[in-house]
Amino acid sequence: MPKYVYLFEEGNKDLRDLLGGKGAGLAEMTRLGLPVPPGFTITTKACTYYSKNQRFPPGLEKQMREALAAVETKAGKKFGDAEKPLFVSVRSGAKFSMPGMMDTVLNLGLNDATVAVLATLTGDERFAWDAYRRLIQMYGRIVTKIDGAKFDAILEAWKGKTDGGRDTDLTADTLKAVVVEYRQLYRQEAGADFPQKPYDQLRQAIVAVFGSWMGKRAIDYRRFAGIPDDLGTAANVQAMVFGNLGGDSGTGVAFTRDPSTGAKGLYGEYLPQAQGEDVVAGIRTPLKIAALRDALPSIYGELEGVAAKLEAHYQDMQDMEFTVEHGRFWMLQTRTGKRTAQAAVRIAVDMVKEGLIEKAEAVQRIEPPQAIELLMPRFRSEEKAAAASAGRMLGRGVNASPGAAAGVAVLDSDLAETLGSRRFRVEGDGDPLSVVQANVAAAKRDLAEATHLPWIARLVPEAFVIRTDKGRWVEFGQWTELLKEGERERPVELRLKVVLTRTETSPEDVHGMLHAKGILTARGGATAHASVVARGLGIPCVVGCEALRVSYENGTFSLGGHSFAQGSYVSIDGATGEVFADLIPAMEPDFEKETEFRTILEWCDELAAPFMVWANADYPRDARRARTFGARGVGLCRTEHMFFETERLPIVHEMILNAVAARGRANAEARARYLAALAKLEDFQRTDFADIFRAMAGLPVVIRLIDPPLHEFLPKYEDLLVALTELRLRGGDPKTIAEKEEMLAAVEATREANPMLGLRGCRLGIVFPEITQMQVRAIFDAAIAVKREGVDVHPEVMIPLVGHVNELKNQREALEPVAKQAMERAGLAVDYKFGTMIEVPRGALTADEIAKYAEFFSFGTNDLTQMTFGYSRDDAEGKFLMKYVQDGILPYNPFQTLDGIPANPGDEPRGVAGLIAIAVKLGRKAKPDLKIGICGEHGGDPASIAYCHARKLNYVSCSPFRVPVARLAAARAAVRTTTSRDK
Ligand code: PEP
Ligand code: MG
Repeated sequence: MPKYVYLFEEGNKDLRDLLGGKGAGLAEMTRLGLPVPPGFTITTKACTYYSKNQRFPPGLEKQMREALAAVETKAGKKFGDAEKPLFVSVRSGAKFSMPGMMDTVLNLGLNDATVAVLATLTGDERFAWDAYRRLIQMYGRIVTKIDGAKFDAILEAWKGKTDGGRDTDLTADTLKAVVVEYRQLYRQEAGADFPQKPYDQLRQAIVAVFGSWMGKRAIDYRRFAGIPDDLGTAANVQAMVFGNLGGDSGTGVAFTRDPSTGAKGLYGEYLPQAQGEDVVAGIRTPLKIAALRDALPSIYGELEGVAAKLEAHYQDMQDMEFTVEHGRFWMLQTRTGKRTAQAAVRIAVDMVKEGLIEKAEAVQRIEPPQAIELLMPRFRSEEKAAAASAGRMLGRGVNASPGAAAGVAVLDSDLAETLGSRRFRVEGDGDPLSVVQANVAAAKRDLAEATHLPWIARLVPEAFVIRTDKGRWVEFGQWTELLKEGERERPVELRLKVVLTRTETSPEDVHGMLHAKGILTARGGATAHASVVARGLGIPCVVGCEALRVSYENGTFSLGGHSFAQGSYVSIDGATGEVFADLIPAMEPDFEKETEFRTILEWCDELAAPFMVWANADYPRDARRARTFGARGVGLCRTEHMFFETERLPIVHEMILNAVAARGRANAEARARYLAALAKLEDFQRTDFADIFRAMAGLPVVIRLIDPPLHEFLPKYEDLLVALTELRLRGGDPKTIAEKEEMLAAVEATREANPMLGLRGCRLGIVFPEITQMQVRAIFDAAIAVKREGVDVHPEVMIPLVGHVNELKNQREALEPVAKQAMERAGLAVDYKFGTMIEVPRGALTADEIAKYAEFFSFGTNDLTQMTFGYSRDDAEGKFLMKYVQDGILPYNPFQTLDGIPANPGDEPRGVAGLIAIAVKLGRKAKPDLKIGICGEHGGDPASIAYCHARKLNYVSCSPFRVPVARLAAARAAVRTTTSRDK
């Protein structure tokens, strides 16, 4: 018969799958000899059986009874006994923590008889009856599913009759009366009496805990957190210790280091005279842990000792729950503590310095999303100071989860979900700012229709965040800055920023929290539900803002002497706990000041070496940023981006018009104009390249020659036609008409049915050799000039979209002489390479031939994915790809993570990943020292980076902002490979 029940002394920390996190922790603490009330764990396997069959597996009850008997012996008490009764709790505990998602029932074993015994034993009648009423309430709500508000209403009515109106003002007699009414309510709702047999209570409580695994709340959370449904939860049955037995009792939660900042030393909260759940539920705002040192110094000492022991044992920061019963210290839980990104980094660095862990372990302790979080927007201190001096600082709460969040205050979680979950695609052409404004207006109409809330109509564009075509969500202000700087990150989506504003949150609010930009509550501490969930999700959160008053009925809230309606703007700083009125613009963090993060990343580089992270940088500014973020080279400079600058575009037009006109005809005039335009562009390009070489001194810079189809530089055919027709109808200026006609002819001549498969990439240089020759001259003249300044330069010329070796051969033979001439002219040689992109499937399949003409390969996985699947990279995501992913036709979006990465390193890669494997193998067979990298979007994706590492690429190249995450991902991949090889 399978073993479904483990006494705490039988388990250990490695049995998380079976015992859940809580059960494994209790077992390990028991083994370490720490003071843990005795108990046992019913395994996740029993839960899985229950979920399938709606009954306990055969044999479970027998094992439970035996375990209970063992606990009774250990505790020297008996469950339901008339003299020395044992009381127990039942707590859920899955493998992965799901804060507040599942149920707990305390004080089991109390009934009409044992309540009196408890009163006599403790000499505290009030306490005993309070414990009994808590049991009926908890059991009624969780096991029998009676609406909790009905119990609350009874309790509130009785509290109202006391002088003080608080829980603690209820006397033993009133509590007896409460119990009578609770039991009436129970009978009414359940159609049966509150169960008096302790074992029945226990059995039903376990059924409820197992049932809560498949509850909606838990399922929603698992979907979001990516936890599989079939893991099940364990149930822990443990002897009760009471933290509400007078002044020398209490309960607390403590971390071995500060989970917000990572600072070393006990951090936590203590609530005197309270039962375990009171702290976590955020019902009363607890005291700082230091208060325990003053009130009960020896207990504090004991806690410190246990904390040190556990941290050294687990070699990680622990999150502990403890209870003090009549001056006696008990441990109820230990687990690896959740922490902010900032804390994760600080703790990892400190622990390496303390000799507790190795660097390789330190990098495993930081998840790639945390590295992203460290680069999240924050408020500028000047902006905050300005808001404060304008009287807009409203108050301060507990800094529960860092990050800056500004948005509309929403008081209801359903509404927060409705407003915050909708994403609006940005559609339309023309001036980007007007396009966004028009789409904001459309989004408002949609939201107003969905909610009928009048204030939606008044929302400003700053209330929305914007997703750019590079996949980043940026603030409106930041996006307009990008726009000004000419980066032209096209907006693709909009989303309303919501700050969920509540008195407190409970697991029922999780759906609203998931879609909020920030969370603000009046109650609770750093370990309250809202705090734990927000930290886990990386959402900025301020809790315990005690002056905040929320009126759900009126849809209003007040703070700092002001009153607001739902839909007003608020800004919260989750790192400091400050709350402001109105929207404060957020800014990018300052990477240079992130000393510890940078230390970790340096270790990452050491661990990943010789594998490197390079950056895609089109402008000198990008190159400088990339270098700051630690890029070891530029893996892709898309030269044509420089052509889009306002002052250059007319010259590009001129160049294309005349190139087209001169092509194939002896049109000397057009040819002269074509060459003159190229000469002007050459000046611009030389200057840009020189600046990039300076920024990347000593490091390689891969410059890709012109790639996009020419029509992308020209106005749209339809727009031109409309403009021209209007001009003609109006009898416009003949010169303008002639110009437009000429442009229209050029557009017509460059138009293609499938431009992505058309005249682009290396084909452009083959058809218009003057363009790529100009670019190579600009590259080498710039490199020579910068080298003369004493800067170490390493240009690498990259020829795109090669599918047949002869394409590369043609271009290399046309271009290398230009490079050599430039160097001969200058009498100065520079170190250079010629190479190609592998982004056409045929290129990958014939990589051995291609390698003969290339010193390096760089996988252009955007095009490689597009061409391997035959999905248009510009349209697929909007048209069908998302549906494919939703319906499980594809496991994930192949434009984000490389398609076909094997689940196990030993398995064969397929699809795009398979083509990469073939190309690497063939390429290196022909040229063993071939340098290979990747520069498509996948170069910044952790799973794809791990694959590139496994295939022994030399580097990945990604956008500058993703460089830190990529460095981390590279090191994690390297460490995992080493560990799995060691095994
Ligand atoms: C690619 O195709 O992956 C690539 C990097 O080039 P582009 O995105 O410019 O086509
Ligand atoms: Mg490409």
